[in-house]
Amino acid sequence: TTAAAGWHFDNSYARLPRAFFAEQAPTRVSAPKIALFNARLAGELGLDAEALSGGEGAEIFAGNRIPEGAQPIAQAYAGHQFGHFTMLGDGRAVLLGEQLAPGGARFDIQLKGAGRTPYSRGGDGRAALGPMLREYVISEAMHALGIPTTRSLAVTTTGNAVIRESELTGAVLTRVAASHLRVGTFQYVSAARPAEELGILVDYALERHYPDHDREDNRALALLREVVARQAALIAKWQLVGFVHGVMNTDNMAISGETIDYGPCAFMDAFDTATVFSSIDRQGRYAYGNQPQIAAWNLARLAEALLPVLAEDEERAVELAEEAIAAFPELYRGRWLAGMRAKLGLFGEEAEDEALVQDLLALMQRHRADYTDTFLALTHGRTAGSALLEAPAFAEWRERWQARRGRQAESAEDAERTMRAANPAVIPRNHRVEEALAAAEQGDYGVLERLLAALSDPYAHAPGQAAFAALPEPAARPYRTYC
Ligand code: AMP
Ligand code: MG
Ligand code: MG
Repeated sequence: TTAAAGWHFDNSYARLPRAFFAEQAPTRVSAPKIALFNARLAGELGLDAEALSGGEGAEIFAGNRIPEGAQPIAQAYAGHQFGHFTMLGDGRAVLLGEQLAPGGARFDIQLKGAGRTPYSRGGDGRAALGPMLREYVISEAMHALGIPTTRSLAVTTTGNAVIRESELTGAVLTRVAASHLRVGTFQYVSAARPAEELGILVDYALERHYPDHDREDNRALALLREVVARQAALIAKWQLVGFVHGVMNTDNMAISGETIDYGPCAFMDAFDTATVFSSIDRQGRYAYGNQPQIAAWNLARLAEALLPVLAEDEERAVELAEEAIAAFPELYRGRWLAGMRAKLGLFGEEAEDEALVQDLLALMQRHRADYTDTFLALTHGRTAGSALLEAPAFAEWRERWQARRGRQAESAEDAERTMRAANPAVIPRNHRVEEALAAAEQGDYGVLERLLAALSDPYAHAPGQAAFAALPEPAARPYRTYC
């Protein structure tokens, strides 16, 4: 049945074993008001954007009113946080339910910042406006960049302050995801529940995210292989745009292959493989250059969690797990190199291609060249404007690149078209995001709306985007994010 405003819930996760979640209604807030609403996404979900962009939407997206058919729960999970295993769960999020979109696709509708749950530990269950707006901007930018991600439907202010280092405006983010199944969901069920329930979770995840998986009889192995492949593709896309996730704990790695949890993430400006933005990542565990290895490490934790259902014989299970994980580096490298070829307008494959790319990156690192801007300069044939572009060593590199391009049959126009589609003209640069959030916190959402508009079509290379492509002033201190 379709309820008013287009809600069409079918809550499959809530039909799983009772230990997988806790029934949990959102906590009431005093004065819900929508700050940002994604009308286009609402439409894609089959929701009535007009009905939900006003007061009724505010009540629902702040958690005060439960839409018909929703069944609010908090999900249980565990996770390795900075390498340490912990029991977790939705500590400040409530899953309203699963919306069936007009095409039949199923989406979690989750309220992040909806109050305390049985998994809150010491936390207040709440979220501040700045970080929720930030997640909205970055996740929507990622989507526009063609990178699988959770989406943002709305940010609603609550009228209740949250206490952090200072008193902040409270807010709730309505997050939309293919699901919120995480590597940590499997870790929780594997550690705390019987193998039978682990089998149920495997079947559920396969059906929900990999309905056309290899029809082999080992379902746990099929799932593991699929997740490995999807994560290899995802991490390659992050590396190609210079995205640093910042907190790749196993509870923040989605089984669907979507980017999830926009906490201390940011886009790299100057190319440096050691780039870290998170104020709490002092060891650089989640630095840009480490992301592929960390993904493989996390997938090994998934494999470990699946051991009880991978094979009856323990040694055989370990063997299957190791084989599946061993596939990651090549899958990743293939995706990454294909993406780099596109960024450089290269067709076909030559043995020297990887060296050509690595040499460019080494030059960028040496000259602290802006990652996005360097590829834009190559795309548009710009040869001046940065220390790198004017360096003699770069002129040599450019000659090698031109020679490589000269050996392909495709035209220069074809190459340029490919490069335009692979090199964004705009990314959510940190100084631009900060500026927009600061204005929004003062009640001026115009700056944020214009930024969102520029980010919505990053491969357009339109004249109006030039203002958003400008590089930040060299900063006195490195950019830091707090989550
Ligand atoms: P994260 O570092 O964002 O992946 O969060 C790790 C865990 O902390 C998750 O279980 C969150 O639900 C929980 N958490 C984060 N912030 C809060 C909060 N303010 N109140 C309760 N739990 C929280
Ligand atoms: Mg998280
Ligand atoms: Mg988080």
